[in-house]
Amino acid sequence: MTLPGSPHVAYRGGELFVEDCALGRLARRFGTPLYVYSRSAMLAALAGYQRALAGRDHLICYAMKANSNLAVLQIFAQAGCGFDIVSGGELERVLAAGGDAAKVVFSGVGKTRAEMARALEAGVACFNVESESELELLSQVAVQVGRTARISLRVNPDVDPKTHPYISTGLKGNKFGVAHERAVATYRRAATLPGIEVAGIDCHIGSQITETGPYLDALDRVLDLVESVEAHGITLHHLDLGGGLGITYTDEQPPAAEALVKAMLARIDTRGHGHRKIVLEPGRSLVGNAGVLVASVLYLKPGGAKNFCIVDAAMNDLMRPAMYEAWMSIVSCTLRDEPPQTMDVVGPVCESGDWLGRDRHLAVQPGDTVAVLSAGAYGMSMASNYNTRGRAAEVMVSGAQAWLIRDREAPADLFRGEHLLPR
Ligand SMILES: *Cc1c(COP(=O)(O)O)cnc(C)c1O
Repeated sequence: MTLPGSPHVAYRGGELFVEDCALGRLARRFGTPLYVYSRSAMLAALAGYQRALAGRDHLICYAMKANSNLAVLQIFAQAGCGFDIVSGGELERVLAAGGDAAKVVFSGVGKTRAEMARALEAGVACFNVESESELELLSQVAVQVGRTARISLRVNPDVDPKTHPYISTGLKGNKFGVAHERAVATYRRAATLPGIEVAGIDCHIGSQITETGPYLDALDRVLDLVESVEAHGITLHHLDLGGGLGITYTDEQPPAAEALVKAMLARIDTRGHGHRKIVLEPGRSLVGNAGVLVASVLYLKPGGAKNFCIVDAAMNDLMRPAMYEAWMSIVSCTLRDEPPQTMDVVGPVCESGDWLGRDRHLAVQPGDTVAVLSAGAYGMSMASNYNTRGRAAEVMVSGAQAWLIRDREAPADLFRGEHLLPR
């Protein structure tokens, strides 16, 4: 039985393994729900980007909102990565994981004064500025703290990435970036501001993109702008082409990272921009296929219209199905010699939207464990405490070794910081 996603997640003799660790055993050792990640799968995904960029001035900034566990950041930092951050909190995580602030780019439409000041003090490589008012404020803050902010403008190329509307970010009418028509004027303004040094240009058109076309269209629009901006005597040293490459959840066939990046580099070279530093911000494609969410089957509930398989993981652990109606593969950790039944896999949360998979064919009994595949990105990082459910534990696997990289939350963790009224 071949599974979609990573070759590091596979059956051996009826047992599902991540690298050399059987998930059933990890579930007994660490409890469920449990996120399990493969270190090799993460490094293999990164290597695709690294091969394509070898020999060029470049920086791969892992978009850490996809999975911000400190151990995940540590793996990427040790492999030479920088980070794409979208909050001050993410910057603190980078520093706590031993990452280098000089390899950090700071994205996001709503940076606060305090976040700007802290990022300047830490010495981030670049602010990806998303509006004209942000640019003005950033200059003021930089002058106040006695630093210069290196910036690129995030431009909105108005390209349809052909993905889910919630994760498409480069169209007119999205809240992201500076409109293409305003970009030259905004760069000219930036060049006059005392706290600002123009460093490059940035775009990011969406997420879970499975075609090369939208990337090349966006790239052409960005290169057109680079030429217009430089005609005004403003130099753009780097091209930040964002992230967004999709992964295989079921039968999607996204281009390999290496092929995609090579296609982009070929276009950059053809248009005479080969001397520029390349920055990329991949998130999902570095970690998505490297992780699974393991859950225990609590009850089977047969019904007239539907059969339900109630598991101990829920929408608070994994939001993607409820939020985007995302289809994620769900398989047994131990194969049974019984005919599969059709069932909806649902969690214990009190919402009808709390489902992980609909109309799945599974042969399971209460007490069995199942795994939701390709859950390494936007899984744990989007988890909440809804229904006062502690967030899952996380484990990193390398070969036959498994390390606990995040403790399971206990109820007392969840109301720490809350206060009763005086009696
Ligand atoms: C989320 C995000 C990314 C990464 O997107 P993926 O689809 O996870 O690769 C990159 N850049 C920015 C600005 C983002 O917001």
